Amino acid sequence: MSSIGKAGKTGLIFFPAFDWAISPTHPEREERLLYTRDQIFEEGLMDLPAIEEYKPRLAEKKDVARAHFCVPDVESQVTEAHLIAAGSTLTLADALEKGEIRNGFALVRPPGHHSMRVVHGNRGFCNINNMAIMVEYLRTKYGHKRIAVIDTDVHHGDGTQEIFWHDQDVLCLSFHQDGHTLYPGSGFVNEMGGPQALARTLNVPLPPGTTDEGIHYVLDNLILPVLDDFKPDLILNSAGQDNHYTDPLANMRFSANGYARLNEKLAPDLCVLEGGYAVETALPYVNTGIIQAMAGLDYSHVKEPDYVPGRFVQTEGMKREIEHTVAQVQKIWDQRDELVAQALDGAGDFYRRKKRVFYDTDMINENQEEVVRLCPDCAGYMTILTSAQRGYGILNSAFCVSIPRGACSSCRDDAKEEYAEHVDDKRIGYVLMQDKDKDKFKLYNNMIRTERGY
Ligand SMILES: [Zn+2]
Ligand SMILES: [Zn+2]
Repeated sequence: MSSIGKAGKTGLIFFPAFDWAISPTHPEREERLLYTRDQIFEEGLMDLPAIEEYKPRLAEKKDVARAHFCVPDVESQVTEAHLIAAGSTLTLADALEKGEIRNGFALVRPPGHHSMRVVHGNRGFCNINNMAIMVEYLRTKYGHKRIAVIDTDVHHGDGTQEIFWHDQDVLCLSFHQDGHTLYPGSGFVNEMGGPQALARTLNVPLPPGTTDEGIHYVLDNLILPVLDDFKPDLILNSAGQDNHYTDPLANMRFSANGYARLNEKLAPDLCVLEGGYAVETALPYVNTGIIQAMAGLDYSHVKEPDYVPGRFVQTEGMKREIEHTVAQVQKIWDQRDELVAQALDGAGDFYRRKKRVFYDTDMINENQEEVVRLCPDCAGYMTILTSAQRGYGILNSAFCVSIPRGACSSCRDDAKEEYAEHVDDKRIGYVLMQDKDKDKFKLYNNMIRTERGY
């Protein structure tokens, strides 16, 4: 006789967000989770002692502000559904940290991994980044230092990558269908992170048609060895199911069984659902397989009705391409310390970059200028000047200042000065301050000259 103590359980949260959709016929809709729920009940999973269902909760505005600069404020960029999706991940994070569960899966929508640090609207169906919000919460509330985020969605996790671009302690590894052939058109091998955090962002673009065999090659030869080296406190999985062979938005050939085996080997502490748009033919099977793998149950019978073993075969050319990409990324990882040293050598006191961000869902064009102090004593404060345009009109402009965890006194003072200098500057709409060290967030409206905080 064996019994499963609470610490052996897998925590689940379902939040289908009935009242949130981009449009009634849009693929990002509530049915994404309803068929999964039916399948899980049919399998009797919820009655098993290995599974514990949790109720979602609302994330606080402060939880959002820890990961994002929402312009002009958090309230303007999120609905209640967004706060519940993000809050669900925090409920599971708490359950894990309290030892109530050994792992957990937040089956929530709207998804988040295309949402970047600055938020002016919806990009790739995402407003706020559930995964990044959970990472910042785990670090602030539970003091975790090193966290690995493995993004297994078919689309490049560009938002998560951007949020942790300068962060040495968060490894962001995304594999996805090659950005030459799929939205968002990024995620190439040479995207490796900011100068202080080179190779803590790793990208593995894969050719359309990649099968279970291809992804397990990437997992066994790259992802698992990198995790062995990095030794994170926690492994988190942005679990997108749109690599499935029936997904209508992409062209990959993964099966439910391939996804379940991936989860078994990766053994993530927490999973957060991202995309996956084959609501009837893929999601119920993929999600059921993943839940069974997380709970240590036999998932071998989880099969799509039309699944035929050996149906999808990779060409020799695809195999060689995948092996070549894995070798390139492995080399980048092996050289991580030299890459950082080279980048910082003679780089000066500040790193600057200009970039444009396009919000495909909301048709917003954003221009940013980002400056990070390359500080020898801490991660360095960051400023971002951002302005967003829709059509011919300026939507919002803001100056954002971020004080990192463990900021040195010089970075803290200079960051505060930057904030003060931009207050009442009539050329800019809002001034935002993120103080991750003190866990305080504030916002100054230059038009009505008032300050608020979270
Ligand atoms: Zn996706
Ligand atoms: Zn500093």
